[in-house]
Amino acid sequence: MNAEPLTRKALGSTGIEVSRLGLGTVKIGRNAGVKYPTSFALPDDKQVCEIIDLAKSRGINLIDTAPAYGRSEERIGELLTQRQDWVICSKVGEEFDNRASHFDFSAKHIRHSIERSLKRLRTDFIDIVLVHSDGFDVDIINNTGCFEVLNDCREKGLIRAFGMSTKTVEGGLLALEHSDIAMVTYNSAHREEEPVIDRALALNKGILIKKALNSGHAVNGAPPVAQDPVEANLRFIFKHQGVGSVIIGSINPLHMAHNIDMAIAVQS
Ligand code: NAP
Repeated sequence: MNAEPLTRKALGSTGIEVSRLGLGTVKIGRNAGVKYPTSFALPDDKQVCEIIDLAKSRGINLIDTAPAYGRSEERIGELLTQRQDWVICSKVGEEFDNRASHFDFSAKHIRHSIERSLKRLRTDFIDIVLVHSDGFDVDIINNTGCFEVLNDCREKGLIRAFGMSTKTVEGGLLALEHSDIAMVTYNSAHREEEPVIDRALALNKGILIKKALNSGHAVNGAPPVAQDPVEANLRFIFKHQGVGSVIIGSINPLHMAHNIDMAIAVQS
């Protein structure tokens, strides 16, 4: 096993430094209504602690959660020790109840959501808050006032930086104009959102990558290829200098350790 730690990188001009690999936590909070290749049981507390400890011991400092990830925020609040060592990213706008998502980008809901996340995460501030888009990125940015509310929360010290987890190129570009960070889908089979990463590099804004392994479909049931798919995707992603951190979700310590090894091998 590679004992070197992951390197860290400044997330645009936010003043926040993140490890090149971050820990995604959908699978610690929710196993209904997800699109992973295989079904799974939620890990128990001991297993979640094992994943968090492994991540931390190998240099991961970024953990990504959301109200829409079921019990993920609450479990992080309960199980994450040494809060000060972590960069916590959560979201606003998407809720998941009764096995379905619904969205609310109103000022009232966003303020309520942040207050609730602070309680669930047992913290006084959240490092990064992203608007969890329903796909209508541009409409959300132009017509809901959500970024103004997040800006106000930043001024009050409740959050350190904000942005949007986008689903369109237009939305990603607009999010970068009006906020600090865009979270985009990017892997060797999904390059459509690359112009957003290009723009972030030019503007010195932060980029977080989601679905680096195509939600597990790049590694599970994918046709055999010469190169390890984790290594191939991380190599592809890190080649872009605009990428801050790649958030991969795993509840399997062997997978996590492999992902960290591969990230260390190809990080730039
Ligand atoms: P992903 O990271 O591309 O893939 C995760 C899947 O890959 C899991 O099922 C995991 O299963 C599997 N996996 C990971 N490493 C593996 C390995 N070395 N070998 C085999 N399988 C492996 O996709 P994602 O979970 O959709 O996205 C990652 C994170 O991004 C999420 O947890 C979440 O934090 C964030 N996200 C954000 C949004 C948004 O709209 N903001 C949307 C999607 C995701 P095991 O548990 O078995 O390892």
